[in-house]
Amino acid sequence: MIHTDTIAAIATGMNTAGIGIIRISGDDSFSVVKRVFKNSHHETLKTIESHRVYYGYIYDEEHLIDEVLLIPMKAPKSYTKEDTVEIDCHGGILVMNRILETILKNGARAAEPGEFTKRAFLNGRIDLSEAEAVIGLIESKNEYAMQNSLKHLTGKFRDCLNSCKDRILYETAYIESALDDPEHYDLTGYPERLKDQVESLIEELHKLIESHKEGQILTEGIHTVILGKPNVGKSTLLNALLGKERAIVTEIAGTTRDLLKEQVMIGGISLILIDSAGIHDTNDPVESIGVDLTRKMAEEADLILMVIDASVPLDDSDLLVFELIKDKKALILLNKNDLVSVVSPEDIKKYTDQKILKISAKEESGFEAFREYIKQEFTHGKLPYNDELYITDQRQLQLLTESVKNLQTVLQSIDNGMPEDFFTIDLTAAYDNLCRITGDLVEDDVINEIFSRFCMGK
Ligand code: GDP
Repeated sequence: MIHTDTIAAIATGMNTAGIGIIRISGDDSFSVVKRVFKNSHHETLKTIESHRVYYGYIYDEEHLIDEVLLIPMKAPKSYTKEDTVEIDCHGGILVMNRILETILKNGARAAEPGEFTKRAFLNGRIDLSEAEAVIGLIESKNEYAMQNSLKHLTGKFRDCLNSCKDRILYETAYIESALDDPEHYDLTGYPERLKDQVESLIEELHKLIESHKEGQILTEGIHTVILGKPNVGKSTLLNALLGKERAIVTEIAGTTRDLLKEQVMIGGISLILIDSAGIHDTNDPVESIGVDLTRKMAEEADLILMVIDASVPLDDSDLLVFELIKDKKALILLNKNDLVSVVSPEDIKKYTDQKILKISAKEESGFEAFREYIKQEFTHGKLPYNDELYITDQRQLQLLTESVKNLQTVLQSIDNGMPEDFFTIDLTAAYDNLCRITGDLVEDDVINEIFSRFCMGK
């Protein structure tokens, strides 16, 4: 155990609720609690048994503060692997603060954000990738994000990394033994064998890296921009998808000046919808700022929804949008299908080969095909509740990429017929980069940065 001082924090949200939880961890947790807790007879406890629930009261000296349940957990059977006590109290902000204050007065210090999880990591209960999964779980915005964080938290990613680490370590150890003891280890034909191993390792790590894009889409949502000239029905579409009146719909061209961002679940996937000011030539300076921004957003989007008004002929503004969606993932929604159409899918196909769906945003028709499209395009039609493990953390992604680069250098050294000790340099670098993900090899400031992303009391 590295840390021995005792920390305390309010672990539940800072709002009024049925109950609140105060968490205490460290060597003195039990003795601190003995100073402030009295049982149902208002007597101080002489001994505290682990993993039992005690009913009683918190006192600040002679002042009664709250009626509580006390849950003591002796090390190492706790979240932090230290002596820990949780106090279930009434969930008022004032009550929780008063209890925390009393505990701090009696020998604990206020915990930093994420400090409980940091201790779980430093005490070896979880590795760094699992600690990051805790943040992911807390911040999950949808079911996929939650499921994926749980997979990381239960060690699926750690197991995968550890197996790669072991394989690299075996090779480095073999080379070093052979160089030290050439009589007993033979390196003839070894580079070819190593090449096979390294290629398969690269493939494995590549799969994790590749999972990032899909993982991001599933856990964060598809960044979607709605494009089209004014009055084609972009805001109406946005409102229909959201099922509420958020964007202001008017009949005057160009009223959607600000970029609106909304999140909506379609076919089980979240779409982050960005309505735009509309792409068209304008002399209005405010609108032209919107147009430039729209171009930029379209560049960065995962998906563009281009809306066309089927009741009016195509014009230069539509052609400008066709230009913009070239080589991008885009879906054309031929809107106002409820009116007499003057634009047909065939007319559009002259300008673009993107998929076209007929809809009426006003009557909310044609949406089923739209949902199906999203499902097919982004999850290949299958529900993504599969066994796939996704990498969503940027730090992990970067380290995996570095590790692959190191392994590729090993392949180059093999191809160039370099001596074996050259291989070990890059194998070790690849190994170290994987260790940085699990936290076996990581600098203090990186650890501090990661845990500062946690909320208080976690
Ligand atoms: P935006 O400028 O592209 O955001 O267009 P709006 O959503 O503000 O719509 C412009 C006008 O077209 C409004 O009067 C809407 O009610 C109308 N509109 C939008 N979608 C449809 C549709 O599917 N059918 C019909 N008939 N009218 C629509």
